[in-house]
Amino acid sequence: MVPSLPPIGLGTWQNDDPAQCTESVRTALKLGYRHIDTAEHYGNEAAVGDGIAAADVARGDIFLATKVHPISGGMTYDEVIEEATASMERLDVEYLDLLYVHWPVGEYDAGETLDAFDQLVGDGLVRNVGVSNFDTSLLDEARDTLDSPLFAHQVEMHPFLQQEKLVGDAQQHDYTLVAYSPLARGEALTNSTICDIAEQYETSPAQVCLAWLTSHENVVAIPKATSRTHLEDNLASRDLELSEEGLARIDAIDQQNRFVERDGAPWQ
Ligand code: NAP
Repeated sequence: MVPSLPPIGLGTWQNDDPAQCTESVRTALKLGYRHIDTAEHYGNEAAVGDGIAAADVARGDIFLATKVHPISGGMTYDEVIEEATASMERLDVEYLDLLYVHWPVGEYDAGETLDAFDQLVGDGLVRNVGVSNFDTSLLDEARDTLDSPLFAHQVEMHPFLQQEKLVGDAQQHDYTLVAYSPLARGEALTNSTICDIAEQYETSPAQVCLAWLTSHENVVAIPKATSRTHLEDNLASRDLELSEEGLARIDAIDQQNRFVERDGAPWQ
């Protein structure tokens, strides 16, 4: 039985100033966020760990996810073990709730890389295994290779990149699709359809994007927010239910626009 993630978590990419990052994580946890997303590659794990320590929320109530990176850390068996251990030291935690393969590029090799993930699960250091930026054939390969269940796939998803195929895969195989850049890095917040619906519901464009995302079965979102105002706004989307008509209007926006790219990504 796979534990479920809350619909809205906290993204931390480019929350680079350590004091600001710590404060955002602390505030988010105080407000009720329980899923925090970071990565070795973001360079902010120590600040995230400080935020968790400052929040006075029990470690067991927090779902903490980080990622090993093919370029900054490496993807061989030994590198994955070393990287995960170093992440836990920086975060100052004794286990990770979720560890992702950040990108299936560079030295990524399903057999070798995922063997290290299974080892970390077997050692009790990692509770769940995730992958990020995969396509369906890489997802099939990962599921076939892993002894542990595949818990999550983190991928760019927002009204301009609706990822029907990957959402279908998550629903079919019953894992969670974690939508990153759920506000299209801010670009979705000025879209006329999104703004029109926000006006109709007397809410913010961010809440409309997030409510649309989390209306999909098996999908949760991790907006990055720095200020308390944005953190509160995004969390409040949990209470927004859009009508079938509103959801259909957003479905019709799809422009196949991607905002995050990396050389060697599976879709290139
Ligand atoms: P995003 O969440 O779509 O957008 C973040 C931007 O939106 C920031 O400028 C933020 O401003 C602003 N914002 C947040 N809430 C808002 C609100 N309620 N109203 C107005 N503006 C708001 O973009 P993202 O950071 O690319 O994605 C989110 C997270 O996904 C990342 O932080 C990271 O954890 C993860 N991610 C993962 C990958 C991967 O390869 N796995 C790639 C990209 C991202 P403020 O900061 O000023 O609040």
